[in-house]
Amino acid sequence: MTELPYRYEAPVSQTLFDRASLVTPGGVNSPVRAFRAVGGTPRFMVSGSGPYLTDADGREYVDLVCSWGPMILGHSHPEVIAAVQEAVARGTSFGTPGEGEVALAEEIVARIEPVEQVRLVSSGTEATMSAIRLARGFTGRAKVVKFAGCYHGHVDALLAAAGSGVATFGLPDTPGVTGAQAGDTIVLPYNDLEAVREAFAAHPGEIACVITEASPGNMGVVPPLDGFNAGLKELCAANGALYISDEVMTGFRTSKAGWFGVDGVRPDLMTFGKVMGGGFPAAAFGGRADVMAHLAPAGPVYQAGTLSGNPIATAAGLAQLRLLDDAAYAKVDAVSAEIRGLVSEALAKEGVAHTVQAASNMFSVFFTDRPVRNYEDAKQQEAFRFTAFFHSLLSQGVYLPPSAFESWFVSTAHDTQAVERIAAALPAAARAASEDTA
Ligand code: PLP
Repeated sequence: MTELPYRYEAPVSQTLFDRASLVTPGGVNSPVRAFRAVGGTPRFMVSGSGPYLTDADGREYVDLVCSWGPMILGHSHPEVIAAVQEAVARGTSFGTPGEGEVALAEEIVARIEPVEQVRLVSSGTEATMSAIRLARGFTGRAKVVKFAGCYHGHVDALLAAAGSGVATFGLPDTPGVTGAQAGDTIVLPYNDLEAVREAFAAHPGEIACVITEASPGNMGVVPPLDGFNAGLKELCAANGALYISDEVMTGFRTSKAGWFGVDGVRPDLMTFGKVMGGGFPAAAFGGRADVMAHLAPAGPVYQAGTLSGNPIATAAGLAQLRLLDDAAYAKVDAVSAEIRGLVSEALAKEGVAHTVQAASNMFSVFFTDRPVRNYEDAKQQEAFRFTAFFHSLLSQGVYLPPSAFESWFVSTAHDTQAVERIAAALPAAARAASEDTA
């Protein structure tokens, strides 16, 4: 691992990381942040403005992570900040219903047609965990189908063959998840409808739901093949199972109505997070009213949260969603396409085999010249090239996700100047990727 050469480039961050490592496992509160896949010192950020982040050493970066998706308007958007300040001046948490929650739920229901009712929670993990429980409670069945390389948060039953950090570290699953917790999970290859058909045939009347990322971003960006989501929906309907579309990453990002706005396949339940919280911990699950009616206190399936619908989080989320009109999405899509073109051009110039895959404005670069259709394909890439590419860009002030198995994210704030900075940094990064050896 390329630990040492990069270790002391950021002395203040390194000091903070040393302190953090004494009091926090691995020095971080979410594994991929530790830079283990790429080596070197994780940058401790102190502020963000528009498309830029500034670290504790005072260096500025064009941010292509956007807090892993939420910051679709860029950092410190004045209207989001103003909404937060207005809300915080009235108090931070009441533990009672409040108007902000109603308004946010109304906004979600208005945007996403299959969502008739929605419940607010605080993280994407909570949203998928609750949706699975509800699906099991509604159908009276135990088994859950998920796809290898899809990540749905760190829900015990869903960590089998997961993407994101689990993919980054190459873990098949994780200690601490018992056979009982994972035993009802059926893991299938992504984009393989025949495998789903076979699973339903092998387990008649046992499968509660199929959960899938609406368009996966956690093994890198691997969009569903034409007809895949529609096929899932059909197989679920034919077999009495629920189709759960996890839109934590794609929701309110890939279009005004998320991935549903792109492919129009109508899920029974959907999960959301990231963009809908405006940078605060807000997430949700929702869908068919007859299914949601099974949730407490309307029905018997229990689910709750001390900070669910928190007034600051709902104010931030609502302010962000209200700014996300068609023009905003057109802007994010355009800047994403421009950056994809620049990356591809730079890598091609250096003869580096690569494939850039996109789902609307989400995209990632695989270091292989073959299309990536599932997790097995994703693992075939020359991930070692990413390390050199990543560190070259980092040293030139461009901040990528520190893993070859993640989506890159842009925002409405990524303007010409930010794109020019990326363009200027790419030739050296592409050269570094071409020179590195495994
Ligand atoms: N589902 C998907 C598709 C995600 O990408 C993530 C997080 O990256 C989650 C669920 C979990 O969300 P959270 O990290 O808010 O728990």
